[in-house]
Amino acid sequence: MLQLIAKSQLTSLSGVAQKNYFNVLDKIVQKVLDDHQNPRLIKDLLQDLSSTLCILIRGVGKSVLVGNINIWVCRLETILNWQQQLQNLQMTEVDSGLTLSDLPVHMLSNILYRFSDGWDIVTLGQVTPTLSALSEDRRLWKKLCQYHFGEKQFCRHLILSEKGHIEWKLMYFALQKHYPTKEQYGDTLHFCRHCSILFWKDSGHPCTAADPDSCFTPVSPQHFIDLFKF
Ligand SMILES: [Zn+2]
Repeated sequence: MLQLIAKSQLTSLSGVAQKNYFNVLDKIVQKVLDDHQNPRLIKDLLQDLSSTLCILIRGVGKSVLVGNINIWVCRLETILNWQQQLQNLQMTEVDSGLTLSDLPVHMLSNILYRFSDGWDIVTLGQVTPTLSALSEDRRLWKKLCQYHFGEKQFCRHLILSEKGHIEWKLMYFALQKHYPTKEQYGDTLHFCRHCSILFWKDSGHPCTAADPDSCFTPVSPQHFIDLFKF
C-alpha cells in the first residue's frame, strides 16, 4: 500500500498524513538497516517514491503538491540519503554452522517452488552454483507462469526456443510487463458486508451474520485506497 501511495496518491495526502507516511518509511528503513531483511522491497518503494517526487517537484505549479516546496525538496534528499544507506548495506554472514547450501537438493528446489516472485528466484539463483542450476528449472518457471497468468495471455506472448520449446522464464518476465501478477500477502484485509466492518483475516471480528463466510470480501491495497475516493 505504501508503494501504491508513492505511485499515485502523494498529492492527495494532507500535511499530517504526509508526515505520518514519511515517519512510517523512516521506521521501515531503520528496521531494514538493523535486521537486513527484505531490502529489495523498500529499495523498490523508494525508487518509485523518488521518481514520482522528481516529476511532481519539476511540475510545481501544474500539480497540486500539498505543502511548501522546500519541505518536499528536503524529503527528496532524505529519500536519496536512505537509498544511499541501503546501497551500502552489507549482508553479514551469520556463522551458525549449517547454511542454506547444506540442505539436500530436493529441499532447495522445494524452497524455490514456494516463491511467487520471479525476481526472488533469480536472486536466490545467484547464491550458489546448485541454486543457479535449480533456478533455471523449466517446470519451476512454467508453474510460476501458470500461477500468475492465464492461457489466453500465454498465447499472446508465446516465446519459443530454437528447438521449439516454450521459454517459460522469458515468458514470465514478458507477461509481467503486460499484466498484473497475482497479489499475495501474509495477511489480507477483509470487509464484512453484514457488519460493514474492515478486519484482518487472521484476527477476524465478532460477526453477527448467520452465515459469516458469505459476507466477506477480500480488500486489496488498491481497493483499500479506492475506499477513500468519493
Ligand atoms: Zn460481520
